[in-house]
Amino acid sequence: MLHKPTEIERLYIDFDCFFASVEQQLQPTLRGRPIGVLPFMSDYSCVIAPSREAKQYGVKTGTRVKEARELCPDIQFVPAQHDIYVKLHHRIYASIERCVHIDQACSIDEVVCSLMANERQKPFALAREIKQILAKEIGRYVTCSLGFAPNQLLAKIASEVNKPEGLVVWQPDYYPEQLFKLELCDIPGIGSSMEYRLYKAGIFSVEKLWHMNAETLRKIWGSVEGERFWYSLHGYAVEPLITSRCMYSHSRILSPESRDIYHARNCARLLTVKAARRLRRAKRTAAAFGLSIRFQSREKWKGKARFTHVSDDHTFLTALTNLWQRAVIEWYRDNEKKPRIKQVSVTLFHLNNPPLPQGNLFRDLLEEASEQKKWNQLAKTMDTIVYKYGSKAISLGVWEEPSGGYAGAKIAFGRIPNMADF
Ligand SMILES: [Mg+2]
Repeated sequence: MLHKPTEIERLYIDFDCFFASVEQQLQPTLRGRPIGVLPFMSDYSCVIAPSREAKQYGVKTGTRVKEARELCPDIQFVPAQHDIYVKLHHRIYASIERCVHIDQACSIDEVVCSLMANERQKPFALAREIKQILAKEIGRYVTCSLGFAPNQLLAKIASEVNKPEGLVVWQPDYYPEQLFKLELCDIPGIGSSMEYRLYKAGIFSVEKLWHMNAETLRKIWGSVEGERFWYSLHGYAVEPLITSRCMYSHSRILSPESRDIYHARNCARLLTVKAARRLRRAKRTAAAFGLSIRFQSREKWKGKARFTHVSDDHTFLTALTNLWQRAVIEWYRDNEKKPRIKQVSVTLFHLNNPPLPQGNLFRDLLEEASEQKKWNQLAKTMDTIVYKYGSKAISLGVWEEPSGGYAGAKIAFGRIPNMADF
């Protein structure tokens, strides 16, 4: 039986313009100014975090550099420093934990907390305490918005309705009316394609959505997720589904000066090694490797290689080399000009949990198994050196940093890189 809270049980904390406000905290000359954080410094890049001042001019996450300049001629661009953001994330986590128990970090700048009985009675005092400790220990330019509500979904929505520096408390009997003021696309879980499906079902407002029954939503969603969504929206204590990772993937858009085959391939090698390192750290193995190349001409190339379960760099890099050769041959079969490569992505998939390679027993000759053993051992030794001396200390083949001023781990929403990723 699902529990329906009669009090606020969750607190959601979402930091305001996180990367941009961290930059303003670190560099006083950027404070109070419109700034845009870029993944790499190039006119072809786009803003991954506008400051609140830049937002007032209409600059959003995803706005291209040229367009951002048109909207706001005074905007100043700064390159992202993901390693610093991750370090700060851990410090922020520790500061908040001293006030309230964190259930989960939902992304680099969002956490969800469970409230104890006494905390449910005084959300405003708790909010003040959290804001004070953050101002003191992290800095007053790194601000956050807080949402209190009966469950996680509602708390997340509440944290977003009054940004920046918001504080919203939605008691169980109070929130539906507040919810009805929002657009469908303001609700987490309703992206543009779901919005379209709802329109097709004649649902144009949150109020209408609210009055549907769980079974209808299940049909619209095409899965039990629709039913879960209904219960969350109606204030039941539905925990988000925890799905186990099914792949390790890295991707990068190349800066315009490095879109040739040589640089693109080097970049794919770096991404492969990074993904393999994450795989080994999770003590997992993969039985397939995927390469995807997006050309400037908008064409795409995709290929994959299969093997028995492994986790060493050598196997993945060999798969990359073979696929890369195929991609280049196929390009020249259809084109006369040299390829210009805009984006490369690599994926390790068909994951297995056991830490040791499986299935070698019947497949391999003894020498082959011992060969694999050597590569595993080498990967392990290299990991130890890299963790101690940094990612440039040792590599299989050339280690060349991609241009654009950043070669560390990328922050994917929902995944906070481990410090060893940098
Ligand atoms: Mg945020």
